[in-house]
Amino acid sequence: TLAESSSTEKDVFKVENSKVIVAVRVRPFSNREKNENSLPVISMSGSETAVRNPATNQVYSFSYDFSFWSFDKRHPNFASQAIIYKTLAVPLLERAFEGYNTCLFAYGQTGSGKSYTMMGFDEDRGIIPRLCEDLFTQIAQIDKQQVILYHLEMSFFEVYNEKIHDLLVFKAESGQKKQPLRVREHPVLGPYVEGLTVNVVSSYSDIQSWLELGNKQRATAATVMNDKSSRSHSVFTLVMTQTKVEFVNEEQCDRSLTSHINLIDLAGSECCSTAQTTGERLKEGVSINKSLLTLGKVISALSKQSRNGKKTFIPYRESVLTWLLKESLGGNSQTAMIATVSPAASSTEETLSTLRYAKQACSIINTAKVNEDVNAKLIRELKAEIEKLKAAQKSALNTDPEKYRRYLQEITSLRVKLHQQERDMAEMQRAWKEKFEQAEKRKLEDIKELQVPGIAFKMDNHLPNLVNLNEDPQLSEVLLYMIKEGETTVGRYTPNSKHDIQLSGVLIADDHCVIKNTAGKVSIIPLREAKIYVNGKCILEPTVLHHVSNRFVILGGDHYFRFNHPVEVQKVKRPSCGTTFLHDGPKDFEFAKNELLIAQRTQLESEIEEARLKAKEEMMQSVQIAKEMVQQELTSQKEAYESKIKSLEAEVREESRKKQIQELNNQKAATKIQELEKAKQNLELELNFNKKRLEMETLATKQALEDHTIRHAKILEALEAEKQKIAEEIHTLQKNRGSGNKTMTIPLNWNSLKLSVMIKEANAISNELGKNTVFSR
Ligand code: ADP
Ligand code: MG
Repeated sequence: TLAESSSTEKDVFKVENSKVIVAVRVRPFSNREKNENSLPVISMSGSETAVRNPATNQVYSFSYDFSFWSFDKRHPNFASQAIIYKTLAVPLLERAFEGYNTCLFAYGQTGSGKSYTMMGFDEDRGIIPRLCEDLFTQIAQIDKQQVILYHLEMSFFEVYNEKIHDLLVFKAESGQKKQPLRVREHPVLGPYVEGLTVNVVSSYSDIQSWLELGNKQRATAATVMNDKSSRSHSVFTLVMTQTKVEFVNEEQCDRSLTSHINLIDLAGSECCSTAQTTGERLKEGVSINKSLLTLGKVISALSKQSRNGKKTFIPYRESVLTWLLKESLGGNSQTAMIATVSPAASSTEETLSTLRYAKQACSIINTAKVNEDVNAKLIRELKAEIEKLKAAQKSALNTDPEKYRRYLQEITSLRVKLHQQERDMAEMQRAWKEKFEQAEKRKLEDIKELQVPGIAFKMDNHLPNLVNLNEDPQLSEVLLYMIKEGETTVGRYTPNSKHDIQLSGVLIADDHCVIKNTAGKVSIIPLREAKIYVNGKCILEPTVLHHVSNRFVILGGDHYFRFNHPVEVQKVKRPSCGTTFLHDGPKDFEFAKNELLIAQRTQLESEIEEARLKAKEEMMQSVQIAKEMVQQELTSQKEAYESKIKSLEAEVREESRKKQIQELNNQKAATKIQELEKAKQNLELELNFNKKRLEMETLATKQALEDHTIRHAKILEALEAEKQKIAEEIHTLQKNRGSGNKTMTIPLNWNSLKLSVMIKEANAISNELGKNTVFSR
């Protein structure tokens, strides 16, 4: 190997055994988890990681190469950023110096600490900055001892939605829209990104400024689509070429090694979990993360292959990421993976899925080998051959002139070849140098390009400014917008925009607002309907910004900023929290968002309250109206009832009067009835009496009648007798007549008169008795 690196204590990093190294890291509770009073569900012991499922109390144990306990700073086994760098990344850097390809990727759900581990924040620098710095420090040390040329190139890109976005190109040439890049496969060198910027870097600060530029680019893009950063993979690549100038028998003989160092911050693992592919996300039409899904498939296929020893088809080419990582997974690379997890119970499911994923990666075996440069190797071989020939030539000189001539010829032709190779090498060096100069020039241009939309690079200590805040802490506080004395205009980004600060996004108006800075007093003036929130409140009037009280500005709904006023800060400098004013990006974003939410909620609540009051008032009014109506109705009804009652009373009175009368009448009637009854009784008595009298009279009459009848009969008898007598008399008379007739007339008449009187008397009696016995002569 080239560099004299100390051998590692860890056997796992031995190159012969180039299995994928897998580590797990658990982070501390986040503020939210703390607020939820979460209990940790993860425990670690040695290289073991155990998870207790709070629902079932079941414990799942996994064994990895390393288990990093970063949960609690006070713990004796606490794994700091430095420890993780030392344990996981230093061996990789050593392998890189040895000429191997190396790769480290971070896997885990969003918010579990991938970016914290890979990139880190501020003083808690992660693996990437530490490795880059370490690399240049080591180069400086090695340089002192040996003559080795180091050449370093870096790339930084993002895979989002299966498209590759170069993070080191800010703007496409001639104002065109930046086109995503594509993966190509070189027959010898393998897959690569066509047209990707490869910047030559010669110091750690070079890398730092490119990373800064790349992150600014991500930050400006991220504001347009918020969850983009969690769904994209960011790939940082360093290509290190070491050329050792060796002398073989005083002849220069270069040896060159090339190694790729890939450091990858993967998309949130939730982006490929099965729950997401079947549930809401699919319904929303959001595509699943193909790269992450395929990475899982590749890891699973590789682990199966190494377990059963049979060659299996590995679907590298199914996704952009796996295609590019082909060499890092199961290929020529020393690879490590760090799986980051949250300690909270609320993440148990995702944590378990991450741990299972990581477990599979444990069994992948790579075939790492030193990448020696063919060119340099060729030169070395040529030189060695020339030496050999020279020696042969020397011995041939004395014996065979023909042989000597042939050797000489061969040596000359080899020398030509060698010169050609050396020219190529020199050309390459020159090209690198040129490339580096070009990169430097482009960096300056890109910085200028970024300054156009108002982003500043070096903080001016006196000017007030706005710094961006983002949900992803990695992208927070990356963009700085200066507010100069006078007016700073803000509007939508367009190629010809004249605004000092240019923002993109549908909610940003062409002319959004003006920020006025008058002698250090900064106020924000909304234009037309543009949406601006200051500390959560939607403002319609010019509003003064203040670094303590009015410091969170949200433009167009998704551009979050914190207002800083260095002069004001100095005036009220509080030594204990002087820095927290300026370096609290992630917390600030949450704070600003919370504030917006609270303000929105308060507004909503007040609107609801207002609506409620209005509704109440309306209700009261309608109730009042209804009440009045009811009152009216009641009154009229009452009146109606009253009059009815009155009439009824009158009726009742009338009735009772009638009743009285009736009663009187009744009484009268009763007395009358009594009277009548009495009368009846009297009458009955009378009747009886009369009846009796009548009976008696009848009896008497009967008696009388009988008497009469008797008398009548007697009369009739007498009459009969008389009649007989008369008849006899008549007979005698008639007999006499015949002899003397004149003297006997008178006695006859008298006799007939006496008879008629008697008949009259008999008829009178008959009449009196009511009998139809009529007597006639
Ligand atoms: P990811 O990149 O996986 O989405 P981040 O790295 O952005 O997650 O981490 C989310 C939050 O958790 C950040 O605020 C970060 O500072 C914090 N964090 C993550 N890991 C750690 C750790 N090991 N120690 C302290 N804070 C951490
Ligand atoms: Mg992240």
